Amino acid sequence: MGFLVRRCPNESCKFAKPTRERFYSKVGSFLCKWNHRKIPRYLCRGCGKKFSTSSFKATYRQKKPYLNTAIFELYSSGTSQRRLAKCLKTDRKTIARKFIWLAEWARREHKKSLGELLRGGTFQFDEMESFEHTRLKPLSIGIAVDAASAKIVALEVGTLNYKGRMAAFALSKYGPRVDTSEEAMLRVLSFIKAQCEM
Ligand SMILES: [Zn+2]
Repeated sequence: MGFLVRRCPNESCKFAKPTRERFYSKVGSFLCKWNHRKIPRYLCRGCGKKFSTSSFKATYRQKKPYLNTAIFELYSSGTSQRRLAKCLKTDRKTIARKFIWLAEWARREHKKSLGELLRGGTFQFDEMESFEHTRLKPLSIGIAVDAASAKIVALEVGTLNYKGRMAAFALSKYGPRVDTSEEAMLRVLSFIKAQCEM
């Protein structure tokens, strides 16, 4: 085995922090459901719980981890969730669940790479308009961009009031709509502020 176990995945265990001590013993193995590999199982002497190297992976307890990359790439290229389910021969619930997981993963990765960008960076703020499922429901997107690399460092979405010729119709169809565009922009600004103070 190339993988060296240094700590117990149980947060409340006394071996939760990396240790040089051999705190576990091997107790059999199990078959990984999706790639049918044999994975050894370990028993922690500290807390008596069983674990495996899978317990440490980001994809722990996922039944179809091999779909993650394809979903990430296709979704980033504008493929709809409905279409993804069809192309990858899986159901929409799986796609939706993985989308949420990928969003959290992306947020973590974004935060990691943001640290480098924010060191002595110059930022430009902008606001763009978009809409929800219909043009009748306009949205405002507050954005902060790193001036040197033009990378987006923060983005928040707020709703805009109905407007134009269809405003009265939209109001009768969807009811009152609150303008939260200013709050969205303020969230972008306070996020940048908090990052710069870290
Ligand atoms: Zn333990």
